[in-house]
Amino acid sequence: MVPGSSVATPERILQVIDVVAAQTRHPVAIVVSAFGGVTDSLIAVGQKASQGDGTYVQDLAQIKERHFSIAHALIPSATLPPIDAHLEKEFKELTDALQGIALIKELTKRSLDLLMSFGERLSAYIIAAAMQVKVKNAVFVDARTLIVTDRHFGAAHVNYEQTYARIAGALGENQSTPIITGFIASSTNGETTTLGRGGSDFTAAIIGAALNAEEIEIWTDVSGVMTADPRKVKDAFPIARMTYKEAMEMSHFGAKVIHPPTIAPALQRNIPIRIKNTFTPDAEGTLITSESCDHMHPISGLTSIDQVSLFRVEGAGILGVYGMASRLFGALARKEISIILISQGSSEHSICFAIAPQSSDYAVEIIEEEFALEMQAGLIDEITVDKEVSIIAVVGENMCRIPGIAGKLFGALGTNGINIITIAQGSSE
Ligand code: ASP
Ligand code: MG
Repeated sequence: MVPGSSVATPERILQVIDVVAAQTRHPVAIVVSAFGGVTDSLIAVGQKASQGDGTYVQDLAQIKERHFSIAHALIPSATLPPIDAHLEKEFKELTDALQGIALIKELTKRSLDLLMSFGERLSAYIIAAAMQVKVKNAVFVDARTLIVTDRHFGAAHVNYEQTYARIAGALGENQSTPIITGFIASSTNGETTTLGRGGSDFTAAIIGAALNAEEIEIWTDVSGVMTADPRKVKDAFPIARMTYKEAMEMSHFGAKVIHPPTIAPALQRNIPIRIKNTFTPDAEGTLITSESCDHMHPISGLTSIDQVSLFRVEGAGILGVYGMASRLFGALARKEISIILISQGSSEHSICFAIAPQSSDYAVEIIEEEFALEMQAGLIDEITVDKEVSIIAVVGENMCRIPGIAGKLFGALGTNGINIITIAQGSSE
């Protein structure tokens, strides 16, 4: 799978094509993202159109110009006419969709999914055409014909049974090299859906799992999962091997290299995930498998999320009353608020959890509504929300065999005057 940053310019796309052309030992299926920055631009154009800002037309023209110029830089002119015609047709459909949005002045999640889908539809089509110069059997494949989801627009849920069957049917025995759109799918009634931002990795994992691939590779612009964010920690280095569990923890707590849901299909079919750098294709990268290898380091990596909202729900009414935590988290779950971390004091007097700051006002409303009676009766106090909190995660399966790591960690933070508000440690340690 090739993310947007690796296909932002013609030069970078050529590097990707070389990587694919060099891969002659095994058949490959390739999943690509939209060209770098295009998904964001499409969202912005949609928002402008829905707000009645007519300058969206110029922005759209720029997006169109960028795609045509990349296509013309990469595809030999003799083969261009049908390609141009296809791109024109796609842009006509995109223009019509935007006109509709501008007319009704409304951008629904459903129409946003349709808008965003053009990013991958265009990039995969152009890359497939460019790839044919060196890889003769490259063909464009629109994943909307393969991946079936529900109608949860914006981050749809995959129907694995139907999806795996379709992929195996379409690509299983195929001798070609498919260039597949990442991120996009379709509902059972044929509407365009998406798998959530950053979802092209997930597409690659789904395709890899369906085909029982030997390996799922993610070709990005860093040399694997790093021990920490290199912009924050100067001597961070790539982690050679890690387990699925470690990768899940790291991506959940902020490591940007892999989109968290990616790991599930790979883990289920026990397919290794390898993260490689298109700039330095010979570098090892990171290999993610089920085996915990004997690391030299008990800690695999550190990640952080700079801003989260930390909630504390407290009161005598929580102590020893069963069902309180279930009601609290149930109410938040029904409104699709995802919880990043939970910690509860052993006195059970308070429950503490973290969520993304954008949802914090809404979450307060939900909790106040759920516990209106308890709050009136003074059984639950005011809800405390701290919006300026960061989470640091220290991840490593080998920690569990080594005492003293937590002590060292807290010691280091303490000596540097950093106050710890709450901690959560899974029983897997
Ligand atoms: N193009 C989509 C996004 O920007 C999917 C991806 O890049 O993985 O979110
Ligand atoms: Mg992207």
